[in-house]
Amino acid sequence: MAAPFGLRQTTMYSWQVEAAIASVNSLLPVNIRLRLAPAWDVAAARVAVSPRALARGAGPRIVFTESPSPRVLTSYDAARENCTFAGAERIPVFLVDDARLSKSESLFVPDGQRSIIVNADSLSRLWERLGINEMFGGSASEPTRIHTALVTVLLLHEVGHLHFEDVGSYRRPEPMKSVDFFRDSDQIANPEVRADRFAIERVLAFREGSHVCFEGFFGYNIDILAGDLHRAIRGARSAFEIPNDPFGAFDGLPKPLLLRKGSYSHPDLDLRFMCMDALLYPNDGTLSELLKLSLVRDADQNH
Ligand SMILES: [Zn+2]
Repeated sequence: MAAPFGLRQTTMYSWQVEAAIASVNSLLPVNIRLRLAPAWDVAAARVAVSPRALARGAGPRIVFTESPSPRVLTSYDAARENCTFAGAERIPVFLVDDARLSKSESLFVPDGQRSIIVNADSLSRLWERLGINEMFGGSASEPTRIHTALVTVLLLHEVGHLHFEDVGSYRRPEPMKSVDFFRDSDQIANPEVRADRFAIERVLAFREGSHVCFEGFFGYNIDILAGDLHRAIRGARSAFEIPNDPFGAFDGLPKPLLLRKGSYSHPDLDLRFMCMDALLYPNDGTLSELLKLSLVRDADQNH
């Protein structure tokens, strides 16, 4: 399957991204029709330990079938490792490695398309910048479960853009309003905040997903995945917050300029993870600190 804009495809980090795709699919509830599928040749990456053994991959094989039901029905065939989604919209995920993309273009929905692009070239930098290597061990050459979990969170954000039919991932930065913290994603107008809120809602409501494929293929409980997602978000937020101390928790000197760009945009991962963490742990005081530093504006301010 050709990638949008003729971008060059790769299999670098295909195991991590395929596992993240399986994780995302397991977290989506029956009334959200989108399900992700790798656009690369997953069969080529599967490994058989003996000529007669079933070749193992990083995730179940994904099959789509038609269904008249408005709800997505998920079933798992353990013998074939097939995960079947009946009545879902297939969203291809392209794994690319192309010099035309900048390193800051890590994961995105191309304008007007129903697909997601993952820039494999950017993942090692992303894991390093968001502190995953340092905090959880592993590295870009030996990724851990948490490396995959971070990709899962970012993919959920892209599913949010597709779910709300945003034109693409990149739009003019918009101010973030504090009222948005207390709204469900479908009540939020700012597309970036809305997509992050959507991702956090999926993490918080992980039990509403269909886990037969995930638990059948990986052999462990979905609660482990939920824990990994919490750790990845906390880790990414901490990698920025602890050394930079924007709230002055360490030295008593709040440093709002570190974050104050008056905006909330797709590539602004520091502020985004700070806010996602605040949504995940609404009672730990992060939101009030963000408000105090005017990093999030109050509802009565217009700009
Ligand atoms: Zn976005």
